[in-house]
Amino acid sequence: MISMRNVAKFFGPFQALADINFSVRQGERVVICGPSGSGKSTLIRCLNRLEEHDEGTITIDGIELGDDTKDIRAVRQDVGMVFQQFNLFPHLTVLENLTIGPIRVRKMGKPEAEALARTYLDRVRIPEQAEKFPSQLSGGQQQRVAIARSLCMEPRIMLFDEPTSALDPEMISEVLDVMVELADTGMTMVCVTHEMGFARRVADTMVFMEAGRIVETAPPAKFFTNPASDRARMFLDQIL
Ligand code: ADP
Ligand code: MG
Repeated sequence: MISMRNVAKFFGPFQALADINFSVRQGERVVICGPSGSGKSTLIRCLNRLEEHDEGTITIDGIELGDDTKDIRAVRQDVGMVFQQFNLFPHLTVLENLTIGPIRVRKMGKPEAEALARTYLDRVRIPEQAEKFPSQLSGGQQQRVAIARSLCMEPRIMLFDEPTSALDPEMISEVLDVMVELADTGMTMVCVTHEMGFARRVADTMVFMEAGRIVETAPPAKFFTNPASDRARMFLDQIL
């Protein structure tokens, strides 16, 4: 579903990604971790074209990311993304936040889009919040709305960039629970997170990054008990 080959990314003279080789199979769940500034966000932002890579090739679901904007639109519809900040539209209700993409981008009629939205609000367990505005919800509820909004585009891949790191501790599990359930549906997922309980539970593959490079790729059983690199071991000692 995802293939990155020898990918590099620069911000001016600064190299944010170097020699990235990374692939994700259909249905695979990958968790990316690593210190702040190691390039985790940049890597996943390259996957839905929020950033353009400078070297190497990225292929998503058979489409090579290049300059063709038609393909980029197709890829954006295929790849959902959930950020640390929920980025909901504050002046729209929860239901309107969910239907705007299907109506504008997928050209659905309003009744059909609302039915779809309610299905996904059920899925993330907040059907009763449909008529509220984002500011009336807790952070955890807002993040569940953000997940539902992505799912309304019926993506084949979901990317998460530290979806719980802006949340109060008591709200983290209500978002992780939704992500676990999504994983159980067979969704292909790439998650940047330091929630290692979640990682142990759902990850097929752990990726550890440092200074713009992938330092280690391993199954969780190996990564958590016997990481190959000292850097990963030190990182795990700090966060576990
Ligand atoms: P992480 O998500 O692992 O914390 P990022 O991918 O956000 O790391 O950032 C990797 C490096 O790239 C950091 O040093 C960051 O300062 C730099 N960087 C990220 N985005 C930009 C940008 N738009 N312009 C300049 N530098 C950036
Ligand atoms: Mg980041």
